[in-house]
Amino acid sequence: MTRRTHIVGAGIAGLSAALAVTGQDGEAVVYEAAPQPGGRCRTLQSSDGFIHDNGTHVLFTANGRTLDLLKAVGARNRWIEPEPKGLPLYDGRTDAFQRVGLSPWSWLLPSRRPPGLTLPDLARILRLVFPAKDCPVASIIGDRPIMDSLIEPLTVAVLNTPAAQASAQRLACALRRLLRPGSGRLLVARNGLSADLIEPALATLATRGTSVVTGQRLHRLLISNGRAIGMALSDRTVMLGPDDQVVLALPPYEVARLLPGLPVPASFEPILNVHFRMAGPAAPRFVGFTGTLAQWALIRPAHVSVTVSAADAVIDQNSADVAARIWREIVPALRRLGLDAAGDRQPETRVVKEKRATIRQAAEFLPQPPLLPLANLALAGDWLGSLPATIESAVMAGEHAAALLRNARCTRASILRDRPLKTEDAA
Ligand SMILES: Cc1cc2nc3c(=O)[nH]c(=O)nc-3n(C[C@H](O)[C@H](O)[C@H](O)COP(=O)(O)OP(=O)(O)OC[C@H]3O[C@@H](n4cnc5c(N)ncnc54)[C@H](O)[C@@H]3O)c2cc1C
Repeated sequence: MTRRTHIVGAGIAGLSAALAVTGQDGEAVVYEAAPQPGGRCRTLQSSDGFIHDNGTHVLFTANGRTLDLLKAVGARNRWIEPEPKGLPLYDGRTDAFQRVGLSPWSWLLPSRRPPGLTLPDLARILRLVFPAKDCPVASIIGDRPIMDSLIEPLTVAVLNTPAAQASAQRLACALRRLLRPGSGRLLVARNGLSADLIEPALATLATRGTSVVTGQRLHRLLISNGRAIGMALSDRTVMLGPDDQVVLALPPYEVARLLPGLPVPASFEPILNVHFRMAGPAAPRFVGFTGTLAQWALIRPAHVSVTVSAADAVIDQNSADVAARIWREIVPALRRLGLDAAGDRQPETRVVKEKRATIRQAAEFLPQPPLLPLANLALAGDWLGSLPATIESAVMAGEHAAALLRNARCTRASILRDRPLKTEDAA
């Protein structure tokens, strides 16, 4: 009988699980509720040609598992470093531009230091990198100029949670990885998330005979004796063979619905993205903002995408008003970069609101379920584990789920092998 791993959810975690299973000669099939794979990492197509990602996604060279996945699907060279000389940071209050290095090593050069950084701040940053116990990020740094120029932007970018509440321990996991020389380089997809991440992963899976079936929501799991035995999907019920396994690569609220009683995080933070259709430079540029609602802008050849993370304050406001405000904020920076932009000429605009962009990563207890809640079912998703909820944690969770199931299968096989032969086995 065929032995299959059924993976539910075609976000990064599900695709990573499928690549891990099939990379070990396993057989996998992926089911996805939405019409397109990618989950929270996707490119939004449009018949009028205004094509952009749901929101800008950046990677760091510290994200080793994601870079390995990109290599495995032949897409590593599609992720490029838009600002190799340090990140341009525009202060909307003073109209000043300054380049800031993201790696502490780059701060040895005065021209790459975050504005306001002093020697005592370095001691505070060191406490942030190795916090004695969990507490809000802001409580370690205090009311210092670097809060505004470095810590708050970095915290909301990495944890999507304001520094006043964000978990220092979770941020520290990311910061320790950025300490390694060469790890703090920021990468973006050259063309977009679908072209440079999702499609190469799907193409690799297709060569391994794995299909990704879209429009298939898992409505109900059929469970017997602590094992998943079937899955009721949108238009079919899949009954599982005795050796079949399942990965639920789903958001926490879906896991809680399918497996009631499992502890999962229940608080989320939104991200707001505004995309302006306009001509930009041939190669992408990336700019950080301080003193404005806009936090980051990715400037592509045919549009500019602006990100507001931890966007609770504005997510329910009128989209056109928020977009107009952000446009006025970014125009001076765009003009300084040589783009043809004017405050009274707002280009065609799209606003994408992701209300549950990531779990809320505050310095408080975060419920976590067992990773193997059934004998043949593992969980995956960016929200599992102690790393910030990002592409990297999604990739790791997918690979870990595949490894857990492989081990569970080996253990089961050895139990069956070692069991004394009974009459019904012999029959
Ligand atoms: C706007 C935005 C910006 C971000 N920026 C960054 C960034 O700069 N860097 C970074 O590393 N990360 C970033 N992230 C986070 C990153 O997108 C996520 O960590 C990652 O995509 C999560 O992948 P996942 O597979 O765990 O979850 P998801 O992408 O949520 O995948 C889950 C999939 O399951 C499907 N599904 C749900 N229910 C069912 C069901 N019942 N049956 C079948 N399928 C189902 C969903 O449709 C979805 O496709 C950002 C996120 C957002 C929203």
